[in-house]
Amino acid sequence: MNKGEQLYSGKAKSVFRTDDPERLILHFRNDTSAFDGVKLAQLERKGEMNNRINAFIMQKLEAAGVQTHFIEQLGPEESLVRRLDMVRVECVVRNVVAGSLSKRLGIEEGLVLDEPVFEFFLKDDALHDPMINESHIRVFGWASEEETAGMHRLSHTVNGVLKPLFADAGIMLVDFKLEFGRADGQLVLGDEFTPDGCRLWDAQTHKKLDKDRFRRDLGEVVESYREVARRLGVPLDD
Ligand code: ADP
Ligand code: UDP
Repeated sequence: MNKGEQLYSGKAKSVFRTDDPERLILHFRNDTSAFDGVKLAQLERKGEMNNRINAFIMQKLEAAGVQTHFIEQLGPEESLVRRLDMVRVECVVRNVVAGSLSKRLGIEEGLVLDEPVFEFFLKDDALHDPMINESHIRVFGWASEEETAGMHRLSHTVNGVLKPLFADAGIMLVDFKLEFGRADGQLVLGDEFTPDGCRLWDAQTHKKLDKDRFRRDLGEVVESYREVARRLGVPLDD
């Protein structure tokens, strides 16, 4: 698969065309950002760790019947994916109170929820990804009602697959963000599932094993991602 021109370079990944217009290459970079790009760093081998964890998780989701854009891992930092028309909405599922939910509602971080909370955010860095609801999505035309219901349903399905997968590895899946896109009229899971876009706590000690280590200057960021990979059984060499 030949790598073509760069289509887009985001905060953590670059997207390249291939000779097939329906396929793209995602390059997971070492760039790490937080607070809408205000805090930036290069973390050695983060791109590789994320690409490998993402490939592993996407394959688990496919095996469980969730349609994803993932086709194959091409190298340590790159994967081949289906090109999607991305929905400008981020879907967040929370099993435990943390981050913006804790701040917004003044509820202590760590409260285990009786059932998952689901939230939509508009993907817009300049506006700091504001929280939105089904009504905003419908009225402003960001997705159809069917797609909105589909994103909600599929996000819960993903939680149902991944929460026990992480639990078996001694890790609490606290919360996570998903992005969906369209291909052939179908809703498909796109983007990534990595410790950059979720919260993962050691089940016993509640040690953070995700990007909060970077956000909160806790150190050992990539080491923690590697620990997640090791516990999940993600292959770490080709
Ligand atoms: P951001 O844009 O938030 O800075 P990234 O650095 O991760 O994020 O950039 C990757 C970009 O690629 C994101 O905007 C994401 O929506 C987009 N993307 C992810 N998967 C696909 C796909 N299969 N087809 C098209 N675009 C995609
Ligand atoms: N998240 C993300 N990208 C975003 C916003 C959130 O990957 O643009 C993830 C984040 O890592 C966490 C979950 O979504 O796992 C919920 O994030 P939250 O709303 O608590 O925001 P935060 O405090 O992390 O900015």
